[in-house]
Amino acid sequence: MWRASILTIFPEMFPGPLGASLAGKALAAGLWTLEAVDIRAHATDKHRSVDDTPAGGGPGMVMRPDVLARAVDALAPAGDPRPRLVMSPRGVPLTQARVAALANGPGAVVLCGRFEGIDERLIEGRGFEELSIGDYVLSGGEIAAFVLLDACVRLLPGVMGKEASGLEESFSQGLLEYPQYTRPQVWEGRSIPAVLTGGDHAKVAAWRRAESERLTRARRPDLWAAHLAGAGKPKRPGKKPRRDG
Ligand code: SAH
Repeated sequence: MWRASILTIFPEMFPGPLGASLAGKALAAGLWTLEAVDIRAHATDKHRSVDDTPAGGGPGMVMRPDVLARAVDALAPAGDPRPRLVMSPRGVPLTQARVAALANGPGAVVLCGRFEGIDERLIEGRGFEELSIGDYVLSGGEIAAFVLLDACVRLLPGVMGKEASGLEESFSQGLLEYPQYTRPQVWEGRSIPAVLTGGDHAKVAAWRRAESERLTRARRPDLWAAHLAGAGKPKRPGKKPRRDG
């Protein structure tokens, strides 16, 4: 069972969007578990403070290492096999490959920052890895944690309707996904590309492959370069990376 534990000063935000749709059904079905722990419950003063002013001066507040450590140690004592992740704009960018690796593991302990961030000694001393969901700044780590968990949970066995639907989508082959169409056959004068309704599966696969390459080249030169360099191959062993037609 995949177990997610969240450390936050806003535990009431959870499960939030993760309680609906695919992730919510999977949660209700017991395919994964979610616990959100209130960091404030581990404060010791009467104001239940979790933050203090930054050493060296400057604006805002910083989350205290002693309070956070108590929360972490209660939630995930030494020996808990789950990776410890702290959401941070300074972290390594989250990728689909990383999401897949996390989904294959035992779960995650996720620390949500607030204010200006977290005392560096807690990150070092409790072995947290910083993960970013993109080059922009959120007001807190909770929404980033939703992003991370949603991406992981949909890959858990039994969560997606069709097991196969995770294998063909954007990033899984190091390329963006090809365009998708459905009925009606003609909509506002626009037809579905004839190749997709012609019934020739090899031609469909070749068209999709070509469209994936065209879109990746045009929109994501970074992914395209990695793909050409051979770095875009899927990590799944035994999967042939480029034969699709
Ligand atoms: N002063 C920090 C930003 C703090 S934003 C800096 O400049 O790096 C407050 C919290 O929001 C962070 O501690 C982090 O947990 C979360 N957060 C903000 N942007 C994020 C992003 N792009 N990815 C992941 N978490 C983010």
